[in-house]
Parts: sequence; C-alpha cells; structure tokens
Amino acid sequence: MDNGKYEPVIGLEVHAQMKTKSKAFCKCSTEYNAPPNTNVCPVCLGHPGTLPVLNKNLVEFILRLGLATNCTIRDRSIFARKNYFYPDLPKGYQISQYDQPVCYDGYLEIEGSKIGITRIHMEEDSGKSIHDFSTDDSLVDLNRCGVPLIEIVSEPDIKSPKQATEYLSKLKQLVVYLDICDGNMEEGSLRCDVNISVKAKDSKKFGTKCEIKNLNSFKNVTDALEYEIKRQTEVLEKGGGVIHQTMTYDAKSKTTSPMRSKEEAHDYRYFPEPDLVRVFVDQEWKNKIKSELPELPEQKAERFVKQYKIPSYDAEVLTQDRAIADYFENVCKGVGEKSFKAASNWVMTEVMRVLNEEKLEIADFRINGKNLSILINLIAEGKISNNIAKEVYAEMLKITDLSDEKQNPEFIVKEKNLLQLTDSAEIESAIKKIINENPNEVKRYKNGETKLLGFLVGKVMKETSGKANPKTVNDLLKQILLISNLR
Ligand code: ADP
Ligand code: ZN
Ligand code: MG
Repeated sequence: MDNGKYEPVIGLEVHAQMKTKSKAFCKCSTEYNAPPNTNVCPVCLGHPGTLPVLNKNLVEFILRLGLATNCTIRDRSIFARKNYFYPDLPKGYQISQYDQPVCYDGYLEIEGSKIGITRIHMEEDSGKSIHDFSTDDSLVDLNRCGVPLIEIVSEPDIKSPKQATEYLSKLKQLVVYLDICDGNMEEGSLRCDVNISVKAKDSKKFGTKCEIKNLNSFKNVTDALEYEIKRQTEVLEKGGGVIHQTMTYDAKSKTTSPMRSKEEAHDYRYFPEPDLVRVFVDQEWKNKIKSELPELPEQKAERFVKQYKIPSYDAEVLTQDRAIADYFENVCKGVGEKSFKAASNWVMTEVMRVLNEEKLEIADFRINGKNLSILINLIAEGKISNNIAKEVYAEMLKITDLSDEKQNPEFIVKEKNLLQLTDSAEIESAIKKIINENPNEVKRYKNGETKLLGFLVGKVMKETSGKANPKTVNDLLKQILLISNLR
C-alpha cells in the first residue's frame, strides 16, 4: 500500500495460552473441551481465604521463550494485581506481571529485520461469557479462569501489515517448536492485539496510536491493519488528529470501530500481589533450560542442508512446521542417500498438496513415512516410473487405516500389476505395433520431423499402460526407426 506522505508504525501484543496440564495458581486442569464450570476450585474462583501457588512449569515455559528470543531474564520478578470488574472475572482482579516482567529486552529476527521484544510476562486468563444461548441472558463458563497465559509485547518496530504477519507467524512457529503453546488461533490459544499509528514519513515523532483487540487470524490482522492505516491517514490528511482509542474489528465489513476510550494503567490500580512470593530464577535454572531448548527452525534448516544435501529453499519449507520436518526425516530414514532430494520433493509437493486441499495437519495425514519411503525406493530402483508412482500414491491415500498392509506401495504395485516393464522384448513388440499403426508419422519422422519422436513415445507408453521405462522406450524406438522400413 502506498500512503504517499505517511507511513504506519505498528506494535503487537500477543497472548499465548500455555500447554501446562494444570492452571497457573491451582491444581485445576486446563483441558479445553471440558463441560462448563467443571474445572474450577475455590482458588481460581477467588473465594476468600484461599491462596494461589505458582505453577513451576509456567515459569519454565516462559523462560524457554525468553531465552529463544534473546531476552534478558530477571532473576527476581513479582506478580501484580490488575483490578477490574467483569462477570467472567470472579476475583475482581487478574494476577499479572506489571513493572517487573520476568523477560525483557529481546528480539525476533524476521526476513533480515530485527523486531524488538519489550517484555514477556506471565498472567492468568479470565473466564468466558457466552451470549449466544438466549437473547435475554448471558452465561458464564469459568473453566478458563486461571489458565496460564504469557503476553509478548513488541517494540513499535513493525512497518507494514505484511511485516506484522511475518512477526506473528515467526512467533507462532517458535512457541510450537518450544512446545509451550499449540499455536491454534481459532481456538484462541494465540490471540493478537495490534497497536497502530501513522506518521509523516519525514517525521521522527510517532503519531497517536489505536489498539485493535482480539484479532484471531492472520487475515484479520492484515485486513484490520490495512483498514486502520487508511482511516488514520485520511484523518491526518484532512488536518485532524487520531483519537487514542481501543477498537474492535468486524471481519464481515472489514472495518474497525471504537470500543471504549483507552484506559490507562492507573485505571487498573495495579499493586503488588500480596499472596504470592517472588519468582527467583537463578543462573543454574537458566542454564539448564537453555541447554534443553529444542532445535529451532533455523538450526534445523541448516542441519537439513548439511545432512540431506537438499537446497536451502527446501530446508526452509520443510522446517516451517516441526511435525512436517519430523515426517520428512522419517521418510529419509527409509530411503538411500541418493533419494533425499526425492523425499523432499514428495513431501513439499504431493504431501503438502493433500494437506492443503483437505485442510489437514500432518499428524492426521493418512500415509505413514515408512510407506512413502517404500514408494520412493520403487522409483529409485526403476521398478515404477514417476507417473505410475503418482497413481500408486493416489491409491495409498484411499486406504484410511494407517496400519493396513494394503497401503504398502509394494502391495498396490503387485495387485494392480504396475511393475515397470524392463523386458525389452515386450517393449519392442509394443514399438513395432505402434510403428505399424502410424505409418504417416513414422514417414514424417524419417523425413526430418524429429519432434514426432515424442508423439510416438507417448503412443508406446500408452500401449504399455505407462509401465514401460520411458528412457528405454525412447532409446529402443530410435534404434528401431533407424532400421525399420515402412511396409
Ligand atoms: P499503552 O500504554 O497504551 O499500553 P505501551 O507503550 O505499553 O502502550 O505499548 C503497547 C504496544 O503499543 C506495544 O506493542 C508498543 O510497541 C506499541 N506502541 C507504542 N507506541 C506506539 C505508536 N505510537 N504506534 C504504534 N504502536 C505503538
Ligand atoms: Zn482451580
Ligand atoms: Mg501497556
């Protein structure tokens, strides 16, 4: 988008729901689909006289992300109460971190730019109000009360909607790799608020920002930002001023509208949480977590290039999703070194095509890595051609039971009689048949129209139901045409 004289300044606040088994400050389960108000106890319901106890795993998880995003880790941090009233918040306050977040001053690298991370802090989620059962009543489900969240606040370093989604997808990839969040935006495991202002290109001073709450997909982030950039630019062009507001986004009309004027920190009357002790993170704990961090996407991609000798483009595509990278490595286990590139091609094209078409995750993909490697070996050994392999692959996809022997490509090749013809006598007789049936084309070929060879090869391939080795057909056909006389 070209805004002429103006350019956007963007900062993201992302909430990620942590995959801990129990809640942040009590033993209740964090299970997503439990019946309403069953995962609750006096602590997360905020009954008087109860005391919260911090879940150590939550600290461990936030440290993983903090260390992976180059943050400084605060060795002693505290929790704060953020006070507000809402029906889905029975305590009347949210336990959060305020002026002493555990991680701060990090960055994330995207496509050559560094986006600063101001802070990452721990907090608890609220419950859920449900309005769609009746027009008169609202219901409340408190299962989500106290579910652990971390909030990742970026510096206003993002310069376009495209960069905002790049940052968000990098962050999503990272939390999934670190195994701390499932990254599911539809289910709300990852929620994004965007802050956006517009300023004159030649000015150093930032404009007044608006915050758009709860954008639950990459598309909504892009569309909301684009709309808001246009709206704010128009306000400024008319000589007006942008009002500091909190906005909501409507995906249907693709427009934003004001929710409320922006509350300030003092509206929340933050104060240190008196019921929780300080969080201590010593060097030993930091070192331990650092040494146990899983291989991250860039490192994995680098290793793939070295270990499998595949182009870095392939390595990057394959490592986007940790589970796909694992699948690829599984396939590689079953094939020879010479077929690693073929394995990469199969995963990047045929496997990803099916995942896209059927909106599947690789975890739900029907062909196991072992069977795909057997298929690749059949091609490498010259037993089937690439085209036949596609046919076999389509058959494999029809078998929905992963353990079914019938999904084994060797079984399919045998049953459907698809083995490539290596017997040249058989190919030869097919060639002779085609030569006899196409005297005109043969004549023209002999008179110099060499491109007709392809036509004749095609006919022979068809005659052998695609089972002949195309190279053998090509060679034999040339030889036979050279010596054959037309009858
Ligand atoms: P607030 O006090 O309104 O909460 P913060 O300074 O805490 O604002 O910043 C919240 C988010 O807004 C951060 O992600 C930050 O990068 C971003 N931000 C701050 N100032 C601007 C601005 N002028 N334009 C766009 N984003 C901004
Ligand atoms: Zn509880
Ligand atoms: Mg703030």
